[in-house]
Formats: sequence, structure tokens, C-alpha cells
Amino acid sequence: MLRVEHLTKIYPNGTVALRDVSFEVPDGEFLVVIGLSGSGKSTLLRCINRLIEPTSGKIYWNDIDITSASPSEIRRIRRQIGMIFQQFNLVKRSSVLTNVLSGRLGYANPWLSLLGVWPVEDRQKALRALERVGIADKAYQRADTLSGGQQQRVGIARALMQDPRLLLADEPVASLDPVLAHSILQYLEQLNKEGVTVICSLHFLDLVHRYATRVIGLKDGVKVFEGLPDEIDRTR
Ligand code: ADP
Ligand code: ADP
Repeated sequence: MLRVEHLTKIYPNGTVALRDVSFEVPDGEFLVVIGLSGSGKSTLLRCINRLIEPTSGKIYWNDIDITSASPSEIRRIRRQIGMIFQQFNLVKRSSVLTNVLSGRLGYANPWLSLLGVWPVEDRQKALRALERVGIADKAYQRADTLSGGQQQRVGIARALMQDPRLLLADEPVASLDPVLAHSILQYLEQLNKEGVTVICSLHFLDLVHRYATRVIGLKDGVKVFEGLPDEIDRTR
């Protein structure tokens, strides 16, 4: 269970990206965060993953306060939370397999991954993750030789290296055409059915109905809607 309480984020330049946002995400949900560009969706997901620090408010992950957790607790929590990005954030010149392996955090000996020497069981796990998303045959290609849809599948495989309990997806299909968008969201839906809680930001309403179990809407950093996908049409 994730609980966000009175979250506010003001960037150093004074932009108020989130203003007093509160909501809960019970385990097993597929929560979609909708809002126009600039409404605060990325900021929200990045606060949850502690890529950035909120200005005020609390985020609880299974009753541990992420906002005041110690560095070692944050490392432990991060291992339970996977993230995928709109621009995929792959290392372009590295192989697909290396990109997936980089999702494996928390080696006792960090030199292993820096030198590109991964334990056999991790290489096998990375290949299995690539199989799941249908691109095991691309494992030894450079990441930037893949199409956008394939690169996003690499992003999903990378997130799977940690066996996440929560998957954050920041506009994962914004740079893909509609057919590819559905194929990526279907992978997220499949993971959700296997028990992974998903929080996904989107800016297309038509995709929301198909995938979300619940929706929150952001406008200028304020939560303006929370409910079931069907309720959006009634409030529009
Ligand atoms: P998105 O809509 O996908 O969030 P943006 O174009 O808003 O993409 O942001 C891209 C990157 O630029 C992000 O890392 C964000 O933190 C940063 N960024 C966005 N707006 C500003 C800004 N006004 N000042 C500085 N950095 C910004
Ligand atoms: P969205 O993901 O919905 O596009 P963001 O969370 O990226 O929204 O941005 C929310 C607001 O915060 C926007 O006004 C954006 O320009 C601003 N912003 C994002 N990142 C930064 C940053 N690093 N510095 C300053 N302003 C930022």
C-alpha cells in the first residue's frame, strides 16, 4: 500500500509543481494519473521513487515514511519499486542485455556491474525478462538500433530485474504510436494481473478506460479528480 499525504513540491526556481496532493494506492491497483503536460505527473512519480525530494508532505510505502527514511532504507525501498520513462532512458551505446542488467541494484560489490561482469544467474534473469517482453533475440544489439516500442520493452525488462512490487510508469507510451502504445500497456496490465501494483501517467483519455482500475487527475499540480475510469465522463 502506498499513501501520499499533503504532498507539495516547489522547485528551486519557485515553480509549484504539486500542491497538497493526497491519495492512497492499495496493493494490486492499476492507477492512472492523467493531466496535461506540466500538470505535475512526472514530479509526483519522481517523488515516490525519491529521484527528487518533496518540499513538504509524506509518502508512506507499507507504513515506512519514504520522505524521512534513512539512506539504507531508501535503497531497500527502491528495490521494490521499478520505474519506466517516456524517453526510455537507456544507455544508447550499450547492448540491450547490459541495459537490462543495469536494473539489478544492490550488488555488495559495485565493481561487478561497473566492469560489466554479472553473475550468471543475473544474466539468465535478464534474458528471461527480455523473453517476457518478446525481444530476447535483440539481447546483443546496441540499444539505439531498436525501434521506440522495442526500447520501451527493454525499459520494462530492466524494471523487472528487481521483481518490483510497485511499477511507476511515467508517460510510457507518449512517444509511441497507438498500436505500440497498446502493446506496452498490455505488458503492464499483465504484470498488474500477476500482482504488481502499477502507477502510470498518461495524457490520452481513451487509453485510461481500457487499463485503469482507478484514476486521479492533476491540473496545475492540484488533484482535481479521483475515481473510477467511468466516472471521468460524468464529470467532464
Ligand atoms: P515531461 O512533460 O515529460 O515531464 P518536461 O519537458 O516537462 O517533460 O521535462 C523534461 C525535463 O526537464 C525534466 O527532467 C524536468 O525536470 C525538466 N524541466 C521541466 N521544466 C523545467 C523548468 N521549468 N526548469 C527546469 N527544468 C525543467
Ligand atoms: P508533467 O509530467 O505533468 O508534464 P512535470 O511534473 O514535468 O509535469 O512538471 C510540473 C511543473 O513543474 C511544470 O510547470 C514544469 O515546468 C515544472 N518543472 C518540472 N521539473 C522542473 C525542474 N527541474 N525545475 C523547475 N521546474 C520544473
